[in-house]
Amino acid sequence: MSRYRLHPTPAQQAVLRDHCGHARYVWNLAVEQHSHWHPGRTGAPGYLEQCRQLTQARAAHPWLAAGSHTVQQQALRDFAQAMTAFFDPGNPAGRPSWRKAGRDEGFRIVGRGRQWDVRRVSKHVGQVWVPKAGWVRFRWSRAVPEGAKSYRVTMDRAGRWHIAFAVIPEPIPAPGHGQMVGIDRGVAVSAALSTGEMLHAPALTARERTRLRRLERKLARARRGSERRSRVRLAIAQLRARETDRRTDWAEKTSTGIARRFDVIRVEDLQIGNMTRSAKGTRGDPGRNVRQKAGLNRGILRSGWGLLVRRLEDKAPGRVEKIKPHYTSQRCSACGQVDRDSRESQAVFRCTACGFAGNADVNAAINIAAGHAVTARRGDGAARPVNREPHLLLQSA
Ligand SMILES: [Zn+2]
Repeated sequence: MSRYRLHPTPAQQAVLRDHCGHARYVWNLAVEQHSHWHPGRTGAPGYLEQCRQLTQARAAHPWLAAGSHTVQQQALRDFAQAMTAFFDPGNPAGRPSWRKAGRDEGFRIVGRGRQWDVRRVSKHVGQVWVPKAGWVRFRWSRAVPEGAKSYRVTMDRAGRWHIAFAVIPEPIPAPGHGQMVGIDRGVAVSAALSTGEMLHAPALTARERTRLRRLERKLARARRGSERRSRVRLAIAQLRARETDRRTDWAEKTSTGIARRFDVIRVEDLQIGNMTRSAKGTRGDPGRNVRQKAGLNRGILRSGWGLLVRRLEDKAPGRVEKIKPHYTSQRCSACGQVDRDSRESQAVFRCTACGFAGNADVNAAINIAAGHAVTARRGDGAARPVNREPHLLLQSA
């Protein structure tokens, strides 16, 4: 996830700490009010009722009234949203839970242009407007996303402040013509569509890769703790961030295009996390072909596949179906025969039965388009405690 390092002045830090405290207080108050409530029982206050109570609480507690109304009201809105997510059967979100001092320090501000704004003051310095704190400096380590509508300020246990800008994508309406598309994640090609299109996620240019390798060699030679070493590390981090930014941008554009063009989008149900972790195997069960698998897994991560699928699910909610990937790469999309020998090479599929030949990834994508949905839900369906805002797409890698 890409956050920006925030550098408030000591006076601003005091204001931000107050904001965190107030947001937590209001959130926990809402948790408390809802803790006695369960489905089928009425009485737990809704958002409007809570707003009225907030007004009363502010009248009763000067310390709360001295704080930002915007911050406190937003904490309530976040809570209401978290409750809605909790009751949504298609969402794996758990019940909103308590926030602890020192651990969950943060607050959110929405309403760009009214409550907040952002500006760049020099190459590496930006400023963000925080209610009651004014313009707070942050390190402009990358461009702030155009569509950012809100941000979240957090303080970690070490007392460091960060800001993350959030882009909440609007669901894109289905075109309504009933067309379905299958997408296969390739390694050489980032994704192949059943329409025959090949999508390539951008990577570093050849020159940038050369520079990265040179920097990595330099880093290996640099003395620990030296000035030179930290300079080289920073340069490496910047190159990697550039690649991530390009890929994020690609995933945004590509997912918007696909969500607009097709009613139903089918993808393989790949547990990317599992795949990338499993290559090494365990001591009792050493992984086979560890080298090849590790290479393949790096390729999957690099292709930005996981990010693309997440964005698709956000933009086309309920229209993304996950298909079990069994035999999709060995099955002939023309005659249906399954034979591993048909996969002539990484790129070429040639059916041993009917002679159909074509791009291997596209052949798989057609099979995926025809496949049976195993789940149309997001995630693993397991409930997790939620003490953050749901549905927020932080600008992430
Ligand atoms: Zn065939």
